[in-house]
Amino acid sequence: MHIRNLLVIPALLCFCATVALSDTAPKSAHADIVNAQGTKIGTAKLKTVSGGVQIKVSVAQLAAGAHGIHIHAVGKCEGPAFTTAGGHFNPTSAHHGINNAQDPHPHAGDLPNLTVRANGKGRGSATIVTKDVTLGAGANSLFHDGGTSLVIHEKADDLMSDPAGNSGNRIACGVITK
Ligand code: ZN
Repeated sequence: MHIRNLLVIPALLCFCATVALSDTAPKSAHADIVNAQGTKIGTAKLKTVSGGVQIKVSVAQLAAGAHGIHIHAVGKCEGPAFTTAGGHFNPTSAHHGINNAQDPHPHAGDLPNLTVRANGKGRGSATIVTKDVTLGAGANSLFHDGGTSLVIHEKADDLMSDPAGNSGNRIACGVITK
């Protein structure tokens, strides 16, 4: 019955249907990643896999090297600074970074650095599996009230310093969408 309802709901109303369908976790999600000028420079595909959520990121037009990439707590990407995305998704009030000496850590939204290669257009891609978030319901849901976003920073994340691993400005952002 839920599935039949879902099929006839127009796409523009899908957020309205989220509450009613919260018992049916989406198996996949995506994000269109834009730069500070609002130009789309990449995509992320998210999928529920055994052991967590797989995030495949593909971007272009970024400087070569390692960039911090995190799930942020608000699904709102307003350039150029993307402060609207809020802080790191952190439902457990943990410290930032997988290598932080203080417990608890890391943030649920902490991810390994994204490495952008120097081949031509500086295209980079990464596949990340994180066990700390879910596309389903609950406190760790990427579709909690207000949503979440994926943010790429200008510099590498040192994976230990609060609040964001000294990764510098936010240079790209994408709202995580069903
Ligand atoms: Zn963090």
